[in-house]
Amino acid sequence: MTGEENNLSDAGPPQGAKAPSGGSAAHEVASVGVSILLAEPRGFCAGVDRAIEIVERALQKFGAPIYVRHEIVHNTYVVNDLKAKGAIFIEALDDVPKGAVLVFSAHGVSRAVQLEAAARGFQVFDATCPLVTKVHVEVAKLHKEGFEFIMIGHKGHPEVEGTMGQLDSGIHLVESVADVARVQPAQTDKLAMVTQTTLSVDDAADIAAAIKARFPNVCEPKQQDICYATQNRQDAVKVMSPQVDVVIVVGSPTSSNSNRLREVARKLGTESYMVDGPDELQAQWFEGRARVGLTAGASAPDILVRQVIDRLKALGAVSVRNMDGRPETVKFPLPKGLKLGS
Ligand code: SF4
Repeated sequence: MTGEENNLSDAGPPQGAKAPSGGSAAHEVASVGVSILLAEPRGFCAGVDRAIEIVERALQKFGAPIYVRHEIVHNTYVVNDLKAKGAIFIEALDDVPKGAVLVFSAHGVSRAVQLEAAARGFQVFDATCPLVTKVHVEVAKLHKEGFEFIMIGHKGHPEVEGTMGQLDSGIHLVESVADVARVQPAQTDKLAMVTQTTLSVDDAADIAAAIKARFPNVCEPKQQDICYATQNRQDAVKVMSPQVDVVIVVGSPTSSNSNRLREVARKLGTESYMVDGPDELQAQWFEGRARVGLTAGASAPDILVRQVIDRLKALGAVSVRNMDGRPETVKFPLPKGLKLGS
């Protein structure tokens, strides 16, 4: 990667940051008098709340098993909890038996998957986040008007596959500023830009600027595609990072928005680690440090944040303080057919 490239992939540890190594047993002495600053907002967003509720309601209404295409949200704890309740997670529709109830994950699916599920006669509940669906609708609408697209996103992420799969062709993926120079659209009169919802706001802005510099007529979405939850959690980490010595992000390695939170802290020069749960905390991260910032990705449940706080207390934390933050009141309606008791 060249210095000018602005890649969306994970950054390594910041210069001077201690590499995580070994288990915590030898370091259980850690820190005395540590204070914890809790980011606000953090954790579940409205799209994740809705997706989990769809699976839980389907289980209550139709009984186990309920099939879910891909992890409903990218969090190990959530997926294991739903597995224990009777959800079966699959990637290929071949693995779903005839007549089964099938839920699409919050990341959305391609048109091909939608059509195949319909053709096979599954009872489908779509847990695609409405903010992802909004992007799909925009792509379909502009495609009818003859537009081609440049999508900013991570190759292989299910949301990107779902959005690119709204069309047979005509969506060009870029992951970095350098990729923009390589895009070869068939025409440039009708070109539109779309974005994965969970990117780094700053990285995406740099890539969008490069797209606009190369294609000045490119059509931008009316409202930015990066969602409110991603923006708010990154903004909170930007406020928090200068106030602490180390930032802990609760989130699974597959979670795009959680990885971005760790990157945001590191770019501000604050050491940061992501953990899937309390057992992954390493006491040496806190040695000689008085202030720990704690946040959670949009798919990480509050129970894990509480468990991480308990573990930090066992390592010497003595106080927990909530940051002031932007209140979130977004709530999305459930799809029809999941009313309980009917
Ligand atoms: S992170 Fe944003 S796009 Fe993803 S589920 Fe949450 S609200 Fe929807």
